[in-house]
Amino acid sequence: MLLLQAEQQNIELFDPEFLDQLQAGTAPGEKTIQEIQGRAYQVLASPLPLPQTQTGLIVVFQDVTHFRDLDRMKTKFVSDVSHELRTPLTNLSLYLDLLALETEERKRTRYQATLRRETNRLTQLIEDLLLMSRLESKRVRADMQEVDINRLIENLVQDRIPMALQRNLEMSVKITPTIPLALADPRLLTQVLSNLLTNSLNYTLAQGCIQLSSDYQSKDGGNWVTITAQDTGVGITAEELPHIFERFYRGSASRRTGAPGTGLGLAISNEIIEQMGGHITVKSKPGQGSSFTVWLQAVL
Ligand code: ADP
Repeated sequence: MLLLQAEQQNIELFDPEFLDQLQAGTAPGEKTIQEIQGRAYQVLASPLPLPQTQTGLIVVFQDVTHFRDLDRMKTKFVSDVSHELRTPLTNLSLYLDLLALETEERKRTRYQATLRRETNRLTQLIEDLLLMSRLESKRVRADMQEVDINRLIENLVQDRIPMALQRNLEMSVKITPTIPLALADPRLLTQVLSNLLTNSLNYTLAQGCIQLSSDYQSKDGGNWVTITAQDTGVGITAEELPHIFERFYRGSASRRTGAPGTGLGLAISNEIIEQMGGHITVKSKPGQGSSFTVWLQAVL
């Protein structure tokens, strides 16, 4: 018979079957995990030679909660990615079959357009995934420079105006002329601002307005150059706001407008800006619009 030497109040936290097994003197298998009050413990047991007829076991509990959580995240990520890849692939296969059977030219053109759209979606998804993975494994190094934000946003908006006009949207830039330079990687920052502008274009209905503006603010002991992408679009509900930076999260705006996307744009943008020592904040009201602000360290 094994003597269970542990503080009595802790003993009852264990699974009774597991305790029975220990009391019978059977060492638990190498991969035994015990869940105790939401934490995971790997059980390592070794026989303890005791005099006479008693059997002994030394049992060590190693807290592996962190590894278990990482493992769960990995499993969820793989399942999310597979799901996201499957949708465009199913459509590609379906429309290829339809195209093969169709003789009417008008319908063939329509199917080809869908095939092109789904191929673009797949390409975008894979590019986003690769960038996300490079960012996480720190294989993308931010090339930090002192950047003239006003010049950067003026150029960016100029490039996007034709696309906005095509969608019957007004796009403008409003700079604060006296702001200091900001510490940033201009190439990665351009990618983030492009993501924010693409979202504003996607989630704002015709006749709406989109504005990119710059400012300088002192907050929380820091000096920041801010860039705000503001739109008069469909907005984001309070329930959705805490989730929009999660990978693959697509909110009601995407369903409402039918805009294409991977749900990775904001997750990537957030990761990039954090690597530059900044952060992104958001304010939004359903039906009134959204405003995303990128905060970058000012060079004083
Ligand atoms: P995607 O745009 O590909 O869905 P994002 O990560 O860029 O992915 O955005 C996540 C979600 O946040 C979107 O699906 C949408 O619901 C919401 N969202 C982002 N930007 C805006 C915006 N400017 N207006 C309204 N909703 C937005």
